[in-house]
Amino acid sequence: MNELKMEKKRITKKIQYQPLKLTKMERMRKLCSDNASIFSCPICRGSIQITQQGDLLCENNHCFNIARKGYINFMNATHESFYDKELFASRGRVFKNGFYQPVAEELVKTIKSYEELWNKESFNILDIGCGEGYYLDWIGKDFSSARCFGIDLSKEAIKAATLHEKEKILAIADLTKLPFRNRTFHILLNILTPANYEEFSRIQKKQGIFIKVSPGKQYLKEIRERFCYKDYNEERVVEYSKGNMEILEERRVYYKKPLTKEDWKDFLYMTPLTAHKQEERIRQIDFPEKEITIDLNLVVGRLKGRKR
Ligand SMILES: [Zn+2]
Repeated sequence: MNELKMEKKRITKKIQYQPLKLTKMERMRKLCSDNASIFSCPICRGSIQITQQGDLLCENNHCFNIARKGYINFMNATHESFYDKELFASRGRVFKNGFYQPVAEELVKTIKSYEELWNKESFNILDIGCGEGYYLDWIGKDFSSARCFGIDLSKEAIKAATLHEKEKILAIADLTKLPFRNRTFHILLNILTPANYEEFSRIQKKQGIFIKVSPGKQYLKEIRERFCYKDYNEERVVEYSKGNMEILEERRVYYKKPLTKEDWKDFLYMTPLTAHKQEERIRQIDFPEKEITIDLNLVVGRLKGRKR
């Protein structure tokens, strides 16, 4: 009897301590299957199911697969972006060194102030043009019950985003053909990336909010001055956004941060401003600035509905 008990105990112990080893791809398949009703086909808008093989299949047989690294590919052709690996490595270091942490903190603060709109229920958040997922990861850690989604056109960016610890659904997708159903998201983020207001308004919930972050006049002025670029025409972007939404509030995130020579080099490499000025960029690398200016406009609004 005792032996039997011990055997039982041993088996239970074995089961208890057996780690659940899901691969990234299996984890993403499970997440997609739990959230299948959120997706719609970017080609025909049909509803999507997860097949036994773990692909996403729409009712008209358009099929999208989940990559081994743990993201969905909604683009039939692979999009070659000029954002190369080196650029993402630089961006990764800039984020890791905390240069954009005040921006992430401001986003968390902003979202907290609107939480009561959704009765604190778990909300769906989508970062459109999420890059390597820095802001989404930050927000996901603060709002543990939030369902986080990120899309980007760049494969390298999405691959980098899969490395963060917070579980989220990541996809390579086109922001003009978002693979989601109408009125799905409580929060849409659009940080330093282009917008498609008609498409964004389609997927925004009635009580949802849209947060747009765009460069202010002084944004990265040390680099702009060095390369003789004009100031950002911030009014143009802000005015255009205002035409497409009912503004709830506007915030400005402005600060300067000290730089090392390595940071300066990373900033030069990650800034699209300098991407087509390779030679100049390399010549200037030896002259580090002492600080860098972050100046961003954060507009919170509700997108005006169109064809819904
Ligand atoms: Zn379809």
